[in-house]
Amino acid sequence: MNKESIYGLTFDQLEAWLMTYGHKKFRASQVWDWLYRKRVTSFSEMTDVKPECLQLLAEHFIFQSLNEHFKQESEDGTIKFLFRLDDGNLIETVLMRPKFGLSACVTTQVGCNIGCSFCASGLLTKIRDLTSGEIVEQIIRVQHYLDQEKKDESVSHVVVMGIGEPFDNLENVIDSLQIIKDHKGLAIGAKHITVSTSGLADKIYEFTDTNLQVNLAISLHAPTNELRTRIMKINQAFPIEEIMKAVAYYLDKTNRRITLEYILLKDVNDRREHALQLSDLIGDKRHLTNVNLIPYNPVDEHTQYQRSQKETMLAFYDTLKKQGINCSIRLEHGTDIDAACGQLRSKQIK
Ligand code: SF4
Repeated sequence: MNKESIYGLTFDQLEAWLMTYGHKKFRASQVWDWLYRKRVTSFSEMTDVKPECLQLLAEHFIFQSLNEHFKQESEDGTIKFLFRLDDGNLIETVLMRPKFGLSACVTTQVGCNIGCSFCASGLLTKIRDLTSGEIVEQIIRVQHYLDQEKKDESVSHVVVMGIGEPFDNLENVIDSLQIIKDHKGLAIGAKHITVSTSGLADKIYEFTDTNLQVNLAISLHAPTNELRTRIMKINQAFPIEEIMKAVAYYLDKTNRRITLEYILLKDVNDRREHALQLSDLIGDKRHLTNVNLIPYNPVDEHTQYQRSQKETMLAFYDTLKKQGINCSIRLEHGTDIDAACGQLRSKQIK
């Protein structure tokens, strides 16, 4: 029998599963308390759970489906973990230390099929989706690392921005988000969780309808279809108008703000005219939109792209600000290690 990770069941799923085997409802609370509060590393440590119940769980689930393969630590405290999955595949998870807490950036697929032309992750096509357990367990492994280091610190924020397109694995991502935000689970508030998509418009509607209330970010990176298609071939399937229609639906239904991510690529999308086009595109949604300008981390395989000059980035920022657009330039983490998403994994695979 292929065992699933114990971290992959939502509370309701675990409760229902235990009941089908004749166990009482409250066993699910006990098990989750050991998993997420006491953070044990084996079933045998769950001392107040009946032995028959523990045996049943051990027969069907595994405790650890991710093993640390390699770790890179930056001078600013950012840590990149490379985990080996049960089937031998490698994935990346990053722990960052922004001013407001500890943020884990998690991966949702082994490889990615979206093929953004600037991205190191997309160089290795998708092998498979991660299970909900493998997504949640990335945060658990990072938290266990912090526990072992006796740092008395907890992961407070989660960004679903690692390798893969989360909306191409929506069902597992939704289950994992439920576990991450559940107050009995990882208990990370919805406002501290952000999911980023390359713009699969049809899935934005589906995601909105789940009413998870987590933050949504769209990787836009260009203000026109012509330019966006050059940078991101997914734009042929979901052009900007369709994305913005789905964004309007999200804004209307959730009453939340949206983040548009924009990687600044030297002489490609970083001119004043691009900033003005972006402002026009946002239009009357500016009070509900944040633009996150991202300095590009060069990747060896994509020599056509370079990082924009600092002055160019600041000029782009100023132009947006003058148009009344909320925007910021993303602070960089881990610039002295393989900073681009997927870079560490692709180097190790090579
Ligand atoms: S940027 Fe994200 S969606 Fe695009 S290829 Fe890379 S991992 Fe995939």
